[in-house]
Amino acid sequence: MARILMSGPDVTDLEREAVAEAFASGWIAPLGPAVDAFEAAMAERIGRSHAVALASGTSALHLGLLAWGVGPGDVVPTSTMTFAATANAISYTGATPYFVDSDPETGQMDPELLGRVLARLGEEGVPVPAVVPVDLLGSCADHTRIVEIAHAAGAKVLVDSAESLGAHHAGLPAGKHGDAAIFSFNGNKVMTTSGGGMYLTDDEAAAARVRHLATQAREPAVHYEHRDIGFNYRLSNLLAAMGNAQLRRLDGMIARRRVRREAYARIVEDVPGVEVFQRDGDEQDNCWLTALVVDPELAGTDAAALSTALTAAGIESRPLWKPMHLQPVFAGIPAEVTGASERLFRTGLTLPSGSALSEEECARIDATLRAALAAHEIAPPLTEAAT
Ligand SMILES: *Cc1c(COP(=O)(O)O)cnc(C)c1O
Repeated sequence: MARILMSGPDVTDLEREAVAEAFASGWIAPLGPAVDAFEAAMAERIGRSHAVALASGTSALHLGLLAWGVGPGDVVPTSTMTFAATANAISYTGATPYFVDSDPETGQMDPELLGRVLARLGEEGVPVPAVVPVDLLGSCADHTRIVEIAHAAGAKVLVDSAESLGAHHAGLPAGKHGDAAIFSFNGNKVMTTSGGGMYLTDDEAAAARVRHLATQAREPAVHYEHRDIGFNYRLSNLLAAMGNAQLRRLDGMIARRRVRREAYARIVEDVPGVEVFQRDGDEQDNCWLTALVVDPELAGTDAAALSTALTAAGIESRPLWKPMHLQPVFAGIPAEVTGASERLFRTGLTLPSGSALSEEECARIDATLRAALAAHEIAPPLTEAAT
């Protein structure tokens, strides 16, 4: 039995043909018309003036910060509940991240805690040129409040929308919030170029700076002339061709992820203490990963037990992101924590959510999950007798 992945790539003949066409066109090395088309299509879809296609979401975060001059001595508040790439990119610039805990319901950066951090850093006279909130699992953070709070403190906002392409907040698409935003097209995201990313902004100077830094910071001269340390961070034309094909299928892929989420919601509907995480905002989400939140007191089982049952059936699942303030590599980094993200890490479990799951695979997941959830009804643990 093949292992069922949480979010495997969803590719068809359309992608195969697009890459073959780019190959046949001779635009192999490395920029070309597919990159231009991909940038134009993405800028259009999100409603941004500028889009720069890059090698990864991580490189987009890195250059987005460098374009604003973020560097050593600066502090950059970010969500503690995220994938390490967010905090890594801040560290690459020489700045120090400051981890901000989650809203206990949504898991997103708590704007009130951000306000507290910015006030404290402001009093201490610490330079805070930027804030990097993360859109967690395909749903947007509260950018209305985050941007207001950050701007009031004189900080720009670079949104890590790596996971949230296709989601919305306050009527605007992910990628349109803040002063700039990034997407990831890694193989496990809602759409993929096998590896890739995009930087989006309405700020022409920042976009030009990102483009410049991404192409080895080459000055316009026949000989190689350089005034900055550059990077080789552009997306290749072959991969952009795949991105163009994926973008055409994006809405369909998101619809399939939503169907999967609804199937999970039906399974846990009558199970006390088990909920689909972030479900309230459903029409606004891209449903990148569906997670369950399991309250062991009420459910008589826990996320770890469910995970064990799924693993035994060859089905991938994972806890929600381990918060950055608990990661050994970021020990000693300042953090404003309430325990909200730690609780979600302990009680949350992300489930297979990909748009390429077959009916057979879905049936196997659902049967395994149902059985695992039902198991406690036969043998409730002792804690349940007390409730
Ligand atoms: C995937 C991801 C990234 C990194 O994107 P890559 O394209 O893999 O470099 C950054 N931030 C978050 C929140 C992510 O999920």
